Order: sequence, then structure tokens, then C-alpha cells
Amino acid sequence: MDTDYPPLSPLQTGLRCRCPRCGQGRMFDGFLTLRKQCEACGLDYSFADPADGPAFFVICFACIPSVLLGVWLEVAFSAPVWVQFLVTGPFMLATCIPPLRPLKGWLVASQYFYKAEEGKLVRLPETGAPHSAS
Ligand SMILES: [Zn+2]
Repeated sequence: MDTDYPPLSPLQTGLRCRCPRCGQGRMFDGFLTLRKQCEACGLDYSFADPADGPAFFVICFACIPSVLLGVWLEVAFSAPVWVQFLVTGPFMLATCIPPLRPLKGWLVASQYFYKAEEGKLVRLPETGAPHSAS
């Protein structure tokens, strides 16, 4: 069913927040809310569950520079609290909020591209022995 569409790089489609199958339809309805399905090709987005993945990446790569900036201002200049609010606060918002959307798009597109889903057991009819699905 997906054979009519050429494989698209999750980076290309995800970072632009476009449909991982057709690369045309928008993935989000609002800032971080996924649409029910693609507006262009009708791909059902119910497979998508990036959970707190985007937040994890933001914590790793955006929050740490914000904390370092705040600590550096404190140590180097003994900056008063209002400087921290005016400099570190906006810096933290600017580095944490904007990456959430492309990161979530990239994770959803990667889920689609690599067909990632929860593992489940399949029982073989002859033996009844559990085998992991692939
Ligand atoms: Zn689509």
C-alpha cells in the first residue's frame, strides 16, 4: 500500500513537519498537535507516538547551554537576578520551544520510515510457542 510512494528521508520530511509518506501534507494541527491523517495522501497518523522524545532531546541539547549561560553570568559577572531573568530566561525559551516542533516531526517521520512500533508476541499455530514479531 505504501509502494506508490518513494521513500523520503525522515530528516527532510520531519524537520519540515511534512507527511512522512508523501512529503506534501502538513503533519501538525497547531503547534504540537498531530493531525488525524495526512491532508494530501490520507496517511493515518495513529501509528505516531513520539511520547516525550522531543522533550528529551530538548533537555539534552538546549537546556544545558541555558544553564551554562546562567552559571557563566553568575560566576563571571556576579549578575543580579534581573539580568538572569532578562538574559537567561529569554535564551532558555528561544532554545527550548522552537526545536520541539521539528524534533517531534523528525521522530514521527522516523517512526514511519523505520516502521517502529511496540514489540508484541505472535504464537505459532503448530507449537503454541511464543516468538517475537519482527
Ligand atoms: Zn501524506
